[in-house]
Amino acid sequence: MKDMAILHDSDADLSVLNGKTVAVIGYGAQGRAQALSMRDSGVNVIIGIRPGKSFDAATQDGFKVLPVREAAAQADIIHILLPDETHGPVYDAEIAPVMKPGKTLCVSHGFSMVFGEIKPPQGTDVIMVAPKGPGTEVRKRFVEGFGVPGLIAVKADASGKARDVALAIAKAEGLTRAGVLECTMEQETYEDLFGEQNVLCGGMVDLMKYGFEVLVEAGYPPEMAYFECVHEVKLIMDLIYEGGIQKMNAVISNTAEWGEYVNGPRIITPDVKARMKESLKDIETGVFAKNWIAEARSGAKNLKARREAIGLHGVEVTGAKIRSLFEQK
Ligand code: NDP
Ligand code: MG
Repeated sequence: MKDMAILHDSDADLSVLNGKTVAVIGYGAQGRAQALSMRDSGVNVIIGIRPGKSFDAATQDGFKVLPVREAAAQADIIHILLPDETHGPVYDAEIAPVMKPGKTLCVSHGFSMVFGEIKPPQGTDVIMVAPKGPGTEVRKRFVEGFGVPGLIAVKADASGKARDVALAIAKAEGLTRAGVLECTMEQETYEDLFGEQNVLCGGMVDLMKYGFEVLVEAGYPPEMAYFECVHEVKLIMDLIYEGGIQKMNAVISNTAEWGEYVNGPRIITPDVKARMKESLKDIETGVFAKNWIAEARSGAKNLKARREAIGLHGVEVTGAKIRSLFEQK
């Protein structure tokens, strides 16, 4: 396997953004972090957002804040940082009417571009600049003088400058300080969905819940079950983040390490891997996206019901209690 090239500050030239206006559409977790950092790097940033909490926050932060359509009309680069399931409708209603050849459409996750929610017109550059981290982390690391790593992709290059613009945005957000990988939008989208569904969110949450349930159903105190199966996940993950699985194994006891080797493969069996492969297929063929968009467009009733149900689960009830007891007052 060939190593991917990692791009740094010296590979990117901020001056390609000279004289350009970047409209950040949406001012949530990513919108705020990316807009503030780009502005600090000297980029001319305006915000396009509907009236409400985000509108007020962007105004408070001193930006020129406009309705989405006006911001998109004034911009050379339209960076869409809305929830993925809203990209299509907002693009069709507010952005498509003001699209002109020469404009660049940018996203931080390829979902809407890859699954056809947004259909960019001919003559448009279509790029992705994706920080690998939540917005708070993106901003914090930038302010500290560094950045989180990122991914860039070019889906359409009408101007011949699409890659340069993507790299310049990445640099303006501090991503090239840490390092940027170049990929296709399909790779980013499929991998991102796979990771969050199978390992990070789906996967992890169910593993912790099962662990908690097994202990509680066997009569162990839920407080202790929470510590073992949820709280300590972070401590273990911090070690892996720092130095890999071997570093974690070196820090835990020999007993814990032996238990990992003996019992891990008994719990996470090869049929889990087989189902992960099925999940990857559903992602790559668009089945997952189609179902999710249908759910979102029909009022997200199941999403809301699941959200409510998890709040009533013992692991969450106990967790809230534990976290408040052990908080520094
Ligand atoms: P948030 O939910 O934090 O923010 C969404 C923003 O969009 C809010 O400002 C919200 O404003 C606004 N908004 C929602 N609906 C509409 C609408 N119909 N019209 C106008 N504005 C609207 O989203 P994120 O920042 O998490 O995600 C944005 C993008 O970044 C997504 O594509 C996501 O995949 C990507 N991304 C996210 C990462 C993450 O860790 N969160 C990491 C990397 C990429 P209001 O206050 O009015 O609701
Ligand atoms: Mg992700």
